[in-house]
Amino acid sequence: MTVHLHHGDLPAGLNLGPVVAIDTETLGLKPQRDRLCLIQLSAGDGDAHLVKFANRDDYAAPNLKALLADPKVTKLFHYARFDVAVLKAYLGVDVAPLWCTKIASKLARTYTDRHGLKDLVRELLGVDLSKASQSSDWAATTLSKDQLDYAASDVLHLHKLKATLEMMLAREGRMHLAEAAFKFLPTRAALDLLGWGEDDIFAH
Ligand code: MN
Repeated sequence: MTVHLHHGDLPAGLNLGPVVAIDTETLGLKPQRDRLCLIQLSAGDGDAHLVKFANRDDYAAPNLKALLADPKVTKLFHYARFDVAVLKAYLGVDVAPLWCTKIASKLARTYTDRHGLKDLVRELLGVDLSKASQSSDWAATTLSKDQLDYAASDVLHLHKLKATLEMMLAREGRMHLAEAAFKFLPTRAALDLLGWGEDDIFAH
């Protein structure tokens, strides 16, 4: 595994293939308050590319934005709802098309209520993921080796999870439901940013 750290944007001409695994690290869980600090990307080849944003004036990132909006590249997340809202709030980009391993897990793995990334990676891939650096200062001027390795580990397993979950969704005849939910994600993220975060607009 190689972790490539970039500052402010991806290098020009970097091709991460047709499906890119993505995660973000922020200063907290409220997109309007807690800024985007880091975005992690992987082609599924065991390497990770990390882009660090120095401050609130550092979100130009033209190469990254082009990739996030590229209709030919599927953006693969675990809990895309949060990352898509953060990326819209800070980069102003509508990320699409989308695939989310958490939604896929909820539709396929009805035998459990454990849909965290750590749970999925352990059960489906037999890998134990450390979450030790999850809550740390992602805005620090210099990120520690532990932080970089943790951040990278959040995108290194998503392609394999997707393959297993696709098999399970097909087996249960629910792929069309997953695809419809993925298409709704940008709207769900927009509702979150507008203040409907806790409300289920489908509820009675
Ligand atoms: Mn993460």
